[in-house]
Amino acid sequence: MKIPLRYDFCPKCGGKLYAETIEQQDQPRCSQCQFIFYQNPVVGVAGILLKDGKVLLGKRNNSYQGLWCLPCGYVEWKEDVEEACKREFEEETGLRVELERVYAVHSNFHNPQQHTVGIWYLMKEMGGQLAADDDLEQVDFFSYQQLPELAFPTDRKVLDQLAADGLLK
Ligand SMILES: [Zn+2]
Repeated sequence: MKIPLRYDFCPKCGGKLYAETIEQQDQPRCSQCQFIFYQNPVVGVAGILLKDGKVLLGKRNNSYQGLWCLPCGYVEWKEDVEEACKREFEEETGLRVELERVYAVHSNFHNPQQHTVGIWYLMKEMGGQLAADDDLEQVDFFSYQQLPELAFPTDRKVLDQLAADGLLK
């Protein structure tokens, strides 16, 4: 599989990286020290908060500006995946939440520079004041029939699944 090289130089010695095909995948290898800079997906987390059959979505103000998504973010180094999901959700919506359970897991290929594995959790609201913050400029609840333009194809998959399960009306 051809993948674009995200970096040009070796993180160990500064040598130039080139793409070498290893087990049918292009991997960046250093032309000086031979280090292989394996490219793996990072982990993303997203929260699903439902209220009266509607789902909470946020309008993005940085990347994918103006498009909507389930509140989401990346897991930090050394951070527990569930803590990361709570933290991102609370940072972006102002609400305090608890996780109910994992609802969906998908691979995200929408950004060729950064593949991710996304984990969608169902959330329970515990308090706080709903207000967009961080990467979001607006937050609102939507019914399945009135979804706004979405940033990510996998959010669409999850919302379709929620509707099929009768959780999103
Ligand atoms: Zn090197």
